[in-house]
Amino acid sequence: MESYGQMITDMRSVFLSGKTKSEKWRSTQLRAIVNLIEENAQKICDALQADLHKHKGEVIITEMELCKNDAINAINHLSEWMKPEKVAKSMMFMMDNACIQKEPLGVSLIIGAWNYPIQLILLPMIGAIAAGNCCILKPSEMSPKTAEFLHEYIPKYLDNDCIKVVLGGVPETTALLKERFDIILYTGNSMVAKIVMEAASKFLTPVILELGGKSPVYIDRNIDLNVVARRVSWGKFINAGQTCVAPDYVMCPKEIQGELVSCLKNAIDDFFTKDTKSSDSYGRIVNSRHFGRLQKLLEGTKPVIGGESDETERFIAPTVITDVQLSDKIMQEEIFGPILPIVTVKDHNEAIEIINSREKPLALYVFTTNKTVREDIRQKTSSGAFLANDTVVHGGLCSLPFGGVGNSGMGAYHGKHTFNAFSHSKAVLEKSLGMESAMSLRYPPYTEAKLGW
Ligand code: NAD
Repeated sequence: MESYGQMITDMRSVFLSGKTKSEKWRSTQLRAIVNLIEENAQKICDALQADLHKHKGEVIITEMELCKNDAINAINHLSEWMKPEKVAKSMMFMMDNACIQKEPLGVSLIIGAWNYPIQLILLPMIGAIAAGNCCILKPSEMSPKTAEFLHEYIPKYLDNDCIKVVLGGVPETTALLKERFDIILYTGNSMVAKIVMEAASKFLTPVILELGGKSPVYIDRNIDLNVVARRVSWGKFINAGQTCVAPDYVMCPKEIQGELVSCLKNAIDDFFTKDTKSSDSYGRIVNSRHFGRLQKLLEGTKPVIGGESDETERFIAPTVITDVQLSDKIMQEEIFGPILPIVTVKDHNEAIEIINSREKPLALYVFTTNKTVREDIRQKTSSGAFLANDTVVHGGLCSLPFGGVGNSGMGAYHGKHTFNAFSHSKAVLEKSLGMESAMSLRYPPYTEAKLGW
């Protein structure tokens, strides 16, 4: 396997030359990212259509606009983010300059996953560049057309000395992880996250781990189930359920389950027609391994909606299963596909117990008009994000940090949070040489009179 040592050594020299630290370099690269997206929109759509059967509309909303807006936000706020931040001072430091200076960490490694293959590379890169870092980007081999696009077009737009795309899968990533980086951002599953963290520990490299898990939805009584079903179905079935923050399972009181199912059916038919397979708005499972994994999860179940599949196209219909037990196979792992189990619960307190008995989720969704129920769930549970009365869309608000907690991840990004994640907050104290007599208190010999104790 090729060694990436020389490439990283060269990149580190460029970093140490200070090239990436100037505001001009950063804003030029960020502007180039906007151009890269705008001038190649059709190529991006074609790549994602080939990899995941993503409709152009979905690509615009969840990939291109998101990245473009994040880059524009970084351009607009760059000088403000780069400015040293004054801090409060106690009497002893009144004459001095005390501030926090954000400084770039150095050479960063960004390892992306396949489900949103543009976003998961570009969003971290935008913040890494804004913060003044060099970047090595490793897109997922599971979405090869998009990876090839990034490999071909990033060098055409961005500074090749400071930003490089490495193609490949496990062997290439393993070889990269043998090298020393100053920060690693990894998106993917928690098994591989442990490999990444172990490799990083050799150099005490900080890591940001963007992982997944089972994101629950609690649906309360006395709520407009038509609206709920549309918002849950959209978040669940977008990209054929292959979204890290997709609602994984629903919990609701038994008496509303029946009506919820009919509302979900209406929403699904409305979004994708009754013949989902022929809808160009509905995605496909990324590969046959994941298709087989999802088929196994469906074994022995009796879907009340969907359940159909076609291996040749890696198509699985939007599927809903009712009266699922917590011990069922489908409740043991992240589904990451278009299957929605419904677990009935007595009330929101039982939902809280279930949530707290499991790994901390990446997102937690609550549909309720009852403030007490909403606040109770928010206060008594822990999750990467908490969203009331919608699903998934919090990822589109770049002022909110996006990341997990516990098994769903470590660290967060998006917007200024990415800039912060790729920066070191350097404590700066610049003292004057005056006032030496006031300083004399700290010098030995220590006497009771001096210390006043
Ligand atoms: P994947 O298979 O694309 O793997 C992710 C990256 O890890 C790839 O670049 C791959 O080359 C690399 N990799 C895989 N195995 C490796 C190994 N043994 N050693 C070193 N590198 C290796 O993606 P995936 O893991 O199938 O992604 C799906 C998971 O990611 C889900 O759990 C999902 O919830 C999560 N996810 C999280 C986010 C988030 O932002 N939190 C976003 C997308 C996906």
